[in-house]
Amino acid sequence: MDFSKAKFDRSFGSVHQITNNSKPQFAFIGRSNVGKSSLINALTSKKDMAKTSSKPGKTQLINFFNIEDQVNLVDLPGYGYAKVSKKLREQFEGLITEYLLHSESLFIVFVLIDAAIPPQRIDLEFLEWCGVHRVPVGIVFTKTDKKKPKQTEANMTAFEKELSKYFVELPVTFETSANSKRGVDVLGNWISQQRSEM
Ligand code: GDP
Repeated sequence: MDFSKAKFDRSFGSVHQITNNSKPQFAFIGRSNVGKSSLINALTSKKDMAKTSSKPGKTQLINFFNIEDQVNLVDLPGYGYAKVSKKLREQFEGLITEYLLHSESLFIVFVLIDAAIPPQRIDLEFLEWCGVHRVPVGIVFTKTDKKKPKQTEANMTAFEKELSKYFVELPVTFETSANSKRGVDVLGNWISQQRSEM
């Protein structure tokens, strides 16, 4: 699959609008500022496929991108905005949970984890929630270029150690940087491989 052929497909504000879509969905989620837009842009070799750092408080939508009519990449709203009201937060959390629990074509949700910082409780809680609800997850570490390699390694190891408290078998894991492009092809090839095995 050629990810540079990615096209914007549609935005959805409600899961009920997502119909007749039988392409397998590879979704991306993470805390705001984790580097999700940068990673999607790196994967699709586009500058502005996913909008970087959309301001919290704006309407949050689920964005679908289409790769050569074979798969959809799904850009989910960020979770854990500190600065928005509880009501708004509940609204997007509602949209996210509804999608994750009810989208029939969801193949995997990649949970993005910032490798430049130590493990964050909100990420662990989100992953635990996915585990409990049997939502298929993968881990994508982002920003692996940002800190010294030793520090980055230590953060990733600490995260996996925490995660192993909830997961008997750790989810498939990727180490990426949108800046250096490290691991971006590995992630793309893995998606293509899964698609070709369907
Ligand atoms: P989003 O809110 O999750 O979509 O995050 P963005 O993609 O907008 O990135 C948030 C911030 O992190 C921006 O300032 C990016 O330039 C920075 N960033 C994203 N990816 C990387 C990366 O791989 N390395 C480094 N050093 N910074 C990154």
